[in-house]
Amino acid sequence: MMTLKDLFEPTAIEPDSETERTCGSCLERKNILEFYRDGKDSKGNDKYRRDCKDCYRKQRLSERKAKRKAEEAARQKVQAKPPGKRGRPKK
Ligand SMILES: [Zn+2]
Repeated sequence: MMTLKDLFEPTAIEPDSETERTCGSCLERKNILEFYRDGKDSKGNDKYRRDCKDCYRKQRLSERKAKRKAEEAARQKVQAKPPGKRGRPKK
């Protein structure tokens, strides 16, 4: 039976090391070079993003796609407006 502890401390994920860490997105263990730096911690040590470069890129790509889709939908909405109705009094 699964316990709460199992849920929150998955044994499959090894703790981060000096040179390797586990991507929070694809859960693959990768070299630290595969992660983008994300500022520094209070001790001045480099901090790294939770997700690897691959996942970060994919994330950015899907965000861009979603944005383009939204823009496209907005454009089509404008075009779908019936012509000739603009400015006509409602009476
Ligand atoms: Zn990843």
